[in-house]
Amino acid sequence: MSERGGYCCCIHNCNSSSNPKRGIKTTLFRFPKDTKRVCKLHFENKMFFNFEKTRLQPNAVPNFQIRNKSM
Ligand SMILES: [Zn+2]
Repeated sequence: MSERGGYCCCIHNCNSSSNPKRGIKTTLFRFPKDTKRVCKLHFENKMFFNFEKTRLQPNAVPNFQIRNKSM
C-alpha cells in the first residue's frame, strides 16, 4: 500500500517512509538498477558522502540486518 506522492522503505520490518504531503521527510535512496527505495537507517556512516547523510557513496550497499528487533 503506497500513498500517492509518498515512498516507503523496502526493507522488511522497517516503517520508514517519505510523504511530503504529510510532512514526513525521511531520506530514501533509490537504486538505479532497482525501483526499490531504502532509507538511510540501513547504511553505515562510512557509506555516506556527506555529514548530512543525503548522498551515498557510489558503491554503497545497504545493511539488511541492521534492524532485527525480533531476535
Ligand atoms: Zn528503512
